[in-house]
Amino acid sequence: MVAAKAKSSSNGEVEAIGIDLGTTYSCVGVWQYDRVEIIVNDQGNRTTPSCVAFTETERLIGEAAKNQAAMNPANTVFDAKRLIARKFGDPIVQTDMKLWPFKIVAGQGDKPLILVQYKGETKKLSAEEISSMVLAKMKEIAESFLGKTVKNAVITVPAYFNDSQRQATKDAGAISGLNVTRIINEPTAAAIAYGLDQKSETGSDREKSILIFDLGGGTFDVSILTLAGGVFEVKATAGDTHLGGEDFDNRMVNHFVQEFKQKHKKDMSANAKAMRRLKTACERAKRTLSTTTQTAIEIDSLHEGIDFHARITRAKFEELNIDLFKKCIEPVDKCLRDAKMEKSVISEVVLVGGSTRIPKVQKLLQDYFGGKELCKSINPDEAVAYGAAVQAAILNGETNEKVQDVLLLDVAPLSLGLETSGGIMTVLIPRNTTIPAKKERIFTTYSDNQTSVLVQIYEGERAQSKANNLLGKFVLSGIPPAPRGVPHINVCFHIDANGILNVSAEDKTAGIKNTITINNDKGRLSKAEIERMVQEAEKYREEDEYVQKRSDARNMLENYVYNMRNTIKDERFSKKISSNDKDKMQKVIKSTIEWLDTNQLADACEYEQKLHDLEHVCNPVISNAYKSAA
Ligand code: AMP
Repeated sequence: MVAAKAKSSSNGEVEAIGIDLGTTYSCVGVWQYDRVEIIVNDQGNRTTPSCVAFTETERLIGEAAKNQAAMNPANTVFDAKRLIARKFGDPIVQTDMKLWPFKIVAGQGDKPLILVQYKGETKKLSAEEISSMVLAKMKEIAESFLGKTVKNAVITVPAYFNDSQRQATKDAGAISGLNVTRIINEPTAAAIAYGLDQKSETGSDREKSILIFDLGGGTFDVSILTLAGGVFEVKATAGDTHLGGEDFDNRMVNHFVQEFKQKHKKDMSANAKAMRRLKTACERAKRTLSTTTQTAIEIDSLHEGIDFHARITRAKFEELNIDLFKKCIEPVDKCLRDAKMEKSVISEVVLVGGSTRIPKVQKLLQDYFGGKELCKSINPDEAVAYGAAVQAAILNGETNEKVQDVLLLDVAPLSLGLETSGGIMTVLIPRNTTIPAKKERIFTTYSDNQTSVLVQIYEGERAQSKANNLLGKFVLSGIPPAPRGVPHINVCFHIDANGILNVSAEDKTAGIKNTITINNDKGRLSKAEIERMVQEAEKYREEDEYVQKRSDARNMLENYVYNMRNTIKDERFSKKISSNDKDKMQKVIKSTIEWLDTNQLADACEYEQKLHDLEHVCNPVISNAYKSAA
C-alpha cells in the first residue's frame, strides 16, 4: 500500500513539516488548507515506530524494523531518545542498557555507541544517527504524501531536555537533511494544538493554565503551561521516565504466563520468542480493551507446540495495573505544587500519548480534577505533531494572521551561571526564566595584575558551583595588568529559542573577547538529575544560605579593602590624607589582606567584624579627604 497523495501535491506551496520524534513512536504533520494534516506512513498508520533495524542485506526503519524485531533483536534499535546527548557512564544509560537487546559501548568522550551488525560488518552508531534515520523516514513519509521535497521542519523535544539534548536533536535533523527551523517543547506543541481551537471559539485573551498529561509507550510527562494573549509559557514539569504503555503490556504478559502455567503446567518465561509473541498479542489486546470491555488472545504453538487461547476483561486489565495507573496521579500533584497552583485554576487538561486512551487512566485523572472534561478531541498520539506542524507553518510564513498571533515561550529548566571567587555560583539566568533570554553582567579580577580569567559555566540550584553541573569553561586572556577590581569584564549569557546556550566574556577596554557554545558533548543533565538537583537544593538550602552569606560577607570585605588600597594610591586623595592617617590605613589594609589570605572560609560574622573594624579606621579618613578634595 502507498500513502495517498495530497491534493496540493502539484502546487508546490507546502514546505514545512512538524515532527514529534517520540521515544517509541514518531508522528509527522503538515499545515494545509488552513488546518493540520497528520500524514499516514506507507502502511497506512499515522504514527511510525522510532525503530531502526540492520540486517545482512538492508537497513529498515519504522514498521518494517519493528516487525522483524523478534527475529533480529540484537540489531533492532529503539529508545534512541533515551540515549541522546548522554554519557556512557550516566547511571540512566547504565540502567537502560540492561533492558535493551542491542549492545552499547563507550566511544570517544564517553559517548554511548550502539553496536550493530550490518551487511556482515560491525557498525557503531550514535543516538543522533539513529534519530536522524527516524527523522529521515518521517521526512520521506511527508514527501511521498506531498509529492515534493521537504526542507524545513519543527521538531519537538520533552520540556525537560537540556541544551545538549536539544542541540543533539537539531543535529539529528541536520544529518537527516532537514533544516530544523525550531526545536519546541512537546507540551507546548500539544497546547498549541488545543490553544488555537480555544482562541477561535471564545476570542478570549484571559490567561489560561493548561495541564498536559502525556503518557506514552515508555515515558510519562506532566507539564503545566500558561497561555495568555497567544503566548505559551512552561511553568513546571514532572513525570516518570520509565512508566508507560509497555509496563501495562508487561503486567498482562505476566498474567498470561501464570495462566499458561496453571493450564499447561509449563513455564514459558525463559522462551524469549514465545514471550515476544505474547507481548505483541498483549499490546494489541490492551488497545482493544480501550474500546471494548473484553477481548481474546489466540496464539498458535506458543510454547512447546501448545496453542494458547485466553480471554481478558477490561476489569481484569485494570486490576493488574491499578497501582501503576494511580502512580500516574502523583506527578500531577507534584507539578501543581511546583507551579504553585491549585488544581482549580487549571482550565484545560490535555491528553497526549497513546496510553491516555485507557479509560481507567482518563477516569482517575478526571476524578482528580473533580469531574472536569478532558481535552481529547485531537488524537492523543498526534497532538504534539499537530502543534509542531502549526509552528512549522508559522515559521514558514504559511499561516493566516490568527495563527501568526501564537508565540512560543519556553523556560530554562535550571539556573545558569558562572563560578565566582570562593567557588560561588553566580546566577545570570535564573531557573524558569522565559527563553530566549540574554543577561549581561560586569565582573572583575580577584588579584592584582591578573591577566586572565577563567569563566566556568554551570547549571543548577546550589549556592556552591561545585555542587552544580559544569557545562563548559574558557579562559579570557590578555587583560592588561591592573589592580584587582579595576578591569571590567562583561559576561553575556544568551540562551536562544531552541535552548542553546552561548556565553561570551569581553574586556572592551582591552579589546579582547572569548566565547563558548555549550554543545552536545558536554554531558548535560538528565531529567532525573535535574529533579535530584532541585530536590537537593531544597534540602541543602540552609547550608547554601550559610555559604552564600559567608561569600557575600567576604566579598564585601574584599571589595572594601581593595577599594581602600586603590583609593590611597590615587593621587587626588592621597595628598589630602595626612601621613599619620595613611600609615594607620596602610597598616590595617595590609593586616586585613593577610588575614583574608589565611582565612578563606571564616564565618560571615568574622568577615563582617573585620569590615566593621576596617571601616572604623578608614571611613573618617576617606570622608575628610573627600571633603577637602571637594
Ligand atoms: P505514544 O508513544 O504516545 O505513541 O504511545 C504509544 C503507547 O500507547 C504504546 O504503549 C501503545 O500500546 C499505547 N496505546 C496506543 N493506543 C492505545 C489504546 N487505544 N489503548 C491503550 N494504549 C494504547
